Amino acid sequence: MSRFDDHVHPWRVPLLVRIVRLTLVALVAVYLVSLLVRDTAGYDLVFEGVITVLALGLAAVLCLMRALLRREDRGVFALIGFGCLAYTAGNVAYVSHVQYLDPMPFPSAADIGWLGIYPFLVVAVILLGRSEVAGTQVGVWLDGLVGVLGVAAAGSALVLQTTLKNLSGDFTVLFVGAAYPLGDLLVLSMIVGVLTVRGRRPDRKWMALTCGLLVFVLADIIYMVRLSTDSYVQGTFLDALWMIGLALVSLSAWQPPTRHRIEEPAAGLGSLAVTIAASLSAVAVLVAASTVETPSYAVGLAGATLLAASARTVVAFHQLRHLVEARQLAGTDDLTGLSNRRAFTAFLDRTLETASPDRGFAVLLLDLDRFKEVNDLFGHQVGDRLLQEIGPRLSPILRPGDMLSRLGGDEFGFVLPGTDETAALQIGRRLCDALSPPFVLDDVASQITGSIGVALWPADSDNSEELFQCADVAMYTAKSHRSGVELYDVEHDADGRDRLAMAKQLRLAAEADQFVLHYQPKIDLRSGRLIGVEALVRWQHPEHGLLYPDVFVPIAEQTGTIRALTTKVLSTAIAQCGQWRLDGFVLTVAVNLSSSDLLSVHLVNDIALMLTRSRVPADLLQLEITETTLMLEPERAVATLHALHALGVTLSVDDYGTGFSSLSYLRDLPVQELKIDRTFITKLTEHSRDSAIVRSTVDLAHSLGIEVVAEGVENGDVMTLVRSFGCDLAQGYHICKPKPANELTAWLRTQPTQTDDTLFASITCADSSHALSPCSVLPAQPSVDDASPTLARS
Ligand code: C2E
Ligand code: CA
Ligand code: CA
Repeated sequence: MSRFDDHVHPWRVPLLVRIVRLTLVALVAVYLVSLLVRDTAGYDLVFEGVITVLALGLAAVLCLMRALLRREDRGVFALIGFGCLAYTAGNVAYVSHVQYLDPMPFPSAADIGWLGIYPFLVVAVILLGRSEVAGTQVGVWLDGLVGVLGVAAAGSALVLQTTLKNLSGDFTVLFVGAAYPLGDLLVLSMIVGVLTVRGRRPDRKWMALTCGLLVFVLADIIYMVRLSTDSYVQGTFLDALWMIGLALVSLSAWQPPTRHRIEEPAAGLGSLAVTIAASLSAVAVLVAASTVETPSYAVGLAGATLLAASARTVVAFHQLRHLVEARQLAGTDDLTGLSNRRAFTAFLDRTLETASPDRGFAVLLLDLDRFKEVNDLFGHQVGDRLLQEIGPRLSPILRPGDMLSRLGGDEFGFVLPGTDETAALQIGRRLCDALSPPFVLDDVASQITGSIGVALWPADSDNSEELFQCADVAMYTAKSHRSGVELYDVEHDADGRDRLAMAKQLRLAAEADQFVLHYQPKIDLRSGRLIGVEALVRWQHPEHGLLYPDVFVPIAEQTGTIRALTTKVLSTAIAQCGQWRLDGFVLTVAVNLSSSDLLSVHLVNDIALMLTRSRVPADLLQLEITETTLMLEPERAVATLHALHALGVTLSVDDYGTGFSSLSYLRDLPVQELKIDRTFITKLTEHSRDSAIVRSTVDLAHSLGIEVVAEGVENGDVMTLVRSFGCDLAQGYHICKPKPANELTAWLRTQPTQTDDTLFASITCADSSHALSPCSVLPAQPSVDDASPTLARS
């Protein structure tokens, strides 16, 4: 059982032990009272004899019971118990001797018993200390050694010197006479050593043990000094000290162990104090040796103390250096060698502590724009090299005392002490400018821009975390405005922080499977057939419920999460397409893409793989892109479109008419479909201008061989109109609202598959409010072709 297991079983002190303990305390008390009450000092058989022997004997019994009844530190307490027993035996010998022979010879049989306690005590203290400080470092052991030697040096110079001086006689007299102070010094130095190594504040067990031994040793020393000055009288408080000392030692045996945390530092200021005190006492001994006659062993011990103390210093120096190195490593970014986020936070906190309102500071956050593309295009190695170049580019702009660190990814943070708004913006702009010359990496010149957000203390916030968030919000603004540097704007505070929180949650949403797809049908206006669906993403947010894409897709686009989102949407939609196909519904599935998707080098391969995996022919997948998607980096986007076209995927231009581009670029794109934005369609019956636009768009598109979809068809009239304008396909709430896959499947099953002359009559929307009736949709236009089923089934 380890010493911690005792906590599992409550530390119970057996009744017998309690009785013995109480008796011991009572005996000591009786003796003390007797000292006060007795008229004269001197030997008394009852008090110095019986009571003392009984008390010492009970102390031994307590220790031995402890060794018998509890496993933990059993050996230690057995040793102390035997030591006390020997000491008691010494007293018995003394008492019986004094009764009959007076005076007591020196040395006598009693001395064997009394001296007998020392070896037991020394070994016990060492054992106990060792079990307490197992696994301690060299430095701490050296602390202990310095303590031991220091006490030995000082003690031998003071105590040994005085006591031995007065000894005269043969070898036995000298030997026994010297053995007492030596034993005391040994015990004392061991205690100091162990306490130093142990470091922690002593618990009750150690307190009692240490106090007990100190009292015991003190009694010895006083006794020896008294003897040497011939002033020792029996039957005074001095005699009580041995008894009290050993009683305390025995009481320590039954102290409950206190729980201490193992990871607590073993050495602290205490050990430093011991080292200093020991070194000082050693120096004192050496100084004394030059003037007073000092025994050579004391000088030797003092020298050894100083040697050990120097060794301790060397070890401490090494430890300190390791510590500094570890600190430095912990605050350095591996890739760039700049300080890392941890160091940044620490620096920010320190700056905050020392800042004064008349000398504010600025926090800047720099995020590289489209850095991901560098990684995607040229590989991570080039990306890493670019990141390594950022520090050397930007550092020259900073002033001494400014902090630059890499916070992670392509994000860098700055703390600029003593900087106001104007200066912060100025530095921000210079940082942006410094990025503009191309980075030449592996013979590839790569141009990169950055967006910087600026937050100011104390204007924006007075705490470091919020300042950081403010800078983050400002950085997003800079990114979306493509303005380079932006100052945090309180007006957009709530909005910005919401976005920030959402951006963080979005990063985890794909992995947490929180994206759900709803599917909205598209029908062929010529045949009335339902030919496909558009996949529309929703975010099942853990707190806010089902969120629509206009809330989170822009944030995902800005923060780079859109790739993960699109990948998730693509794989789900393609798998669903495959499932419908297995169920007998051959439907195209359209997925919306963002500009980063088109710039990713992985997109085409990913799609090819997903199609193969779900056994979906490429022409069942449609990809919807907007004009703005293409505008960002037209050349690369167009290259991707051609690759996708080559794969057999259909491409569709979404939200047509909301951008400012002309139809002419459509000529050069491998596009098969064009979706007229719902802003032109929804109010078609009211605005004649919209009709003109739709009509001319249809003509132009058809002349390029491109099919036209009318989006946002909300009622039958609009449906009739767009059909009459020549739109090929229609999509909108009138036909069906977007639905989860299972609901849409159920709806599909309700649709007739057989030939039906009243084409559109057969499509009934699950939403009763939008239920289609034959007359509400379109007048029937029977033709041979149109007489096909409304649902294409394989
Ligand atoms: P969009 O591509 O134009 O998608 C059509 C939007 O119009 C959908 O909104 C749909 O619910 C809505 N809609 C359909 N019929 C009608 C109608 O008759 N009247 C009206 N007023 N609205 C109709 P939703 O689902 O909120 O999606 C909004 C936009 O979010 C989409 O516009 C698309 O640009 C984007 N989006 C949706 N899913 C994704 C996705 O997976 N990836 C990306 N990048 N963007 C997506
Ligand atoms: Ca779309
Ligand atoms: Ca659209």
